[in-house]
Amino acid sequence: MKKIFLCISLLLFLIGCSQSENRKISDLESWLKDNGKIKVLSTTGMIGDLVSRVGKDRIDQLTLIYGDIDPHTYELVKGDDEKFQFAQVIFSNGLGLEHGASLQRRLQIHSNVISLGSEIQKKSAESILKKDGQVDPHIWLDVSLMKMAVDPIIEALSLQDPSFAEEYQHNGALLKEDLEALDQRIIGIMRKIPDEKRYLVTSHDAFNYFAKRYLGDARCIAPEGLAPEGQLSVADIQEVVRKIQLNGIHVLFPESNVSKDSLKKIAYVCKEKGIDVRISSDPLYADAMGPRTYLEMMQYNAEVICGALDE
Ligand SMILES: [Zn+2]
Repeated sequence: MKKIFLCISLLLFLIGCSQSENRKISDLESWLKDNGKIKVLSTTGMIGDLVSRVGKDRIDQLTLIYGDIDPHTYELVKGDDEKFQFAQVIFSNGLGLEHGASLQRRLQIHSNVISLGSEIQKKSAESILKKDGQVDPHIWLDVSLMKMAVDPIIEALSLQDPSFAEEYQHNGALLKEDLEALDQRIIGIMRKIPDEKRYLVTSHDAFNYFAKRYLGDARCIAPEGLAPEGQLSVADIQEVVRKIQLNGIHVLFPESNVSKDSLKKIAYVCKEKGIDVRISSDPLYADAMGPRTYLEMMQYNAEVICGALDE
């Protein structure tokens, strides 16, 4: 049964890859044509999905960072300047996520950038996590937080085009209902995992919001920091191995767009110490959304985590 599920997943993934690549090229061509619709640029796929759900066919939405590209270090490439010049509204994640120098600069000088992370922070400062004094930008991994991003999207689109404000309100309300239902579904899925098994070891520190909402405090362990860097000390590895041993953890989760090297090193050290761990064959999606929509990605992550931890 599991094999059939994996084959279908792989097939959908491959179809999704080719479709999303094709879509990006044609999207850009049509997006740059003036058609009377609001031109919206979103920095990440997760944000782009929410914006598309609110604006539907009244807007022309384009995502800047797509596929497996790392949003932490993304630098502008040829053609991106044109996107910034053409965009009437830009939605960013903020909270330090987009810290590539050229992108950061562009976001600072554009006259209409809505940082959804900052909007959430204004409404609920206590929800924003910090690690070693640095703000954690991975808010999208807590669906209840992303629900708070919907109202700022409705407001920004309504300001651009007040004649459709009611429609944006209606679409946004439906989206919030779907996000609420998904949030509750993930809580339900995570409850199936026995409490003592609810630990998440991943490549980089992306899942703190997810862990806080769905697994419990301090249930997320990663060798790499808030941005995947790939430079690990022996002490970093040993600290993760110590926590694996202490908490009886048996599964490590790779991330779709981050090298597995650090997890392989950890698995090797564990093996040498006689600790039985394996690397999950199904990756999680953290910084990159893969071929799924944001809502599908979150459901997928929850199912993979539950399936591997509740064995
Ligand atoms: Zn990240």
